[in-house]
Amino acid sequence: MVAIPCAALASPPKCWARSETRAQPTQAIAQSVLNLRGVHMQARDIVARGGVMTKNSRSLLIAASVMSLSLAAQDAKTVLQSAAKAMGDVKSIQYSATGHLYALGQAFSPTSAWPQNNITSYTRTIDYGSRSSKEELTQVEPSPPRLGGAAPFAGEQKQINLVSGQYAWNQVGNASQPAVAAAEERQLQIWLTPHGFLHAAMENNASSKKGGGGTIVSFTVGKFRINGTIDRQNLVSRTQTWIPNPVLGDMLVETTYSDYKDFNGVKFPATIVQKQGSYPVLDLTVTSVQPNVRLDLPLPDAAKTAALPPVKVTTQEIADGVWFLAGGSHNSVLVEYPTYLAMIEAPLDEARSLAVISEARKLAPNKPIKYLINTHHHFDHSGGVRTYVAEGATIITNEINQRYYEQVWKSPRTLEPDRLAQSPKKPAFITIKDKYSLADGERSLEIYHLEGDTHNSGIMMVYMPKEKILVEADDFSWPAGTRAGPRYRANNVNLYRNIQQLKLDVRTIAPLHGEPVSLSELQKATTTS
Ligand SMILES: [Zn+2]
Repeated sequence: MVAIPCAALASPPKCWARSETRAQPTQAIAQSVLNLRGVHMQARDIVARGGVMTKNSRSLLIAASVMSLSLAAQDAKTVLQSAAKAMGDVKSIQYSATGHLYALGQAFSPTSAWPQNNITSYTRTIDYGSRSSKEELTQVEPSPPRLGGAAPFAGEQKQINLVSGQYAWNQVGNASQPAVAAAEERQLQIWLTPHGFLHAAMENNASSKKGGGGTIVSFTVGKFRINGTIDRQNLVSRTQTWIPNPVLGDMLVETTYSDYKDFNGVKFPATIVQKQGSYPVLDLTVTSVQPNVRLDLPLPDAAKTAALPPVKVTTQEIADGVWFLAGGSHNSVLVEYPTYLAMIEAPLDEARSLAVISEARKLAPNKPIKYLINTHHHFDHSGGVRTYVAEGATIITNEINQRYYEQVWKSPRTLEPDRLAQSPKKPAFITIKDKYSLADGERSLEIYHLEGDTHNSGIMMVYMPKEKILVEADDFSWPAGTRAGPRYRANNVNLYRNIQQLKLDVRTIAPLHGEPVSLSELQKATTTS
């Protein structure tokens, strides 16, 4: 990205004066539009009359397009300058708020919104020139506890999220933890803020057109298209972009800005709502704004040198022909049948799934993965399901998920096309309401819906009667203490109650987070606080 031009950044009076003198008189613009129309009509007439497009007529069309673009860019510049004048031209900004944070992809059911936590304090400082941002927030779970996922936590959870140029990290106590995977989106989020949008649009040769609610100004940064609406009061009322998501494909990120107020000489929205994949992920009620605040973010060495860790898959044979595939934050379990394989869970994304599939091929060569059992629709547990569809596997899932997957998988995937997008195939499903058995030869497993679960309405667990193994997601993980809080304990209690009611003779729990452990550990967790 090149440096931000003076017109966008320097102190307002000087730059406004310069840009105004450079602006074309209205009459001249009107004349250019007339000329342009004439050129388009000439070219169109040639085609309409059945004439062959000559080199000259093609040149005319190209010239017309170039003029169209430059006029659109010129219009955009005028609109952006008016907006910067109305909103206040700032080099940096700090705003504080309260509101809500929502957990994307962790809805209680496929038809409900992302679950909400309360933000008790929020401060964000952005320096546009150095492309840095510091976001400090404290969130608490609502009381009484709400339904849905996202790791439950006891008390407050504090976060400090930072980005400077291409580097991102989190501050945890005195330690800096690199956040390589978050860098691209954090950078993009700077350009989605009201003043950030104006800066980036000026810098990236934006174009404009009339649209609902005002003028739509658009530009591209890297692979991302960003649109912003400048309303009739010359205020940024909305920004839009699309980011890749393993489940939703090109996912719309839409932020609306309303209730603009004067804060210390700048206009800033008192209400901010960002939606991702149609539901809010953040809503803020802004309480104070400070323009041109100094933000010094010394780049930690850890952030500078960090790279995305390679996908690691470790294997542990927990019974004959049953492998626990771990090595990351999420596990899968591979079950061997006489002529095929069944995989339990396709977490995270395609990269993880490809690594797990490759491991399965080594463990049981020449057997196809015929079934993929998906415990629930939360994105961290379903982000790799499409990879198994591409692989030719039938998806076994709760009946409430089929329609959802079929619908969201239709979204375009231009930003990160996966294998299924590159070679489309109709997904095959086996759906379950309460129970399903997969038996062949000596091998059998049973899939049960977990009654009364507050984490996910369609969540299922897998029981292997001969091996006395239970595979479950998110209701109990070992080591204990990695998750906490009353709601998590309620999940432990509910899981144990389901095991008892179904009279399952479980010896080992193979959780999809953490390590295999004996049933007694779950028993203990249900009786101790
Ligand atoms: Zn979950």
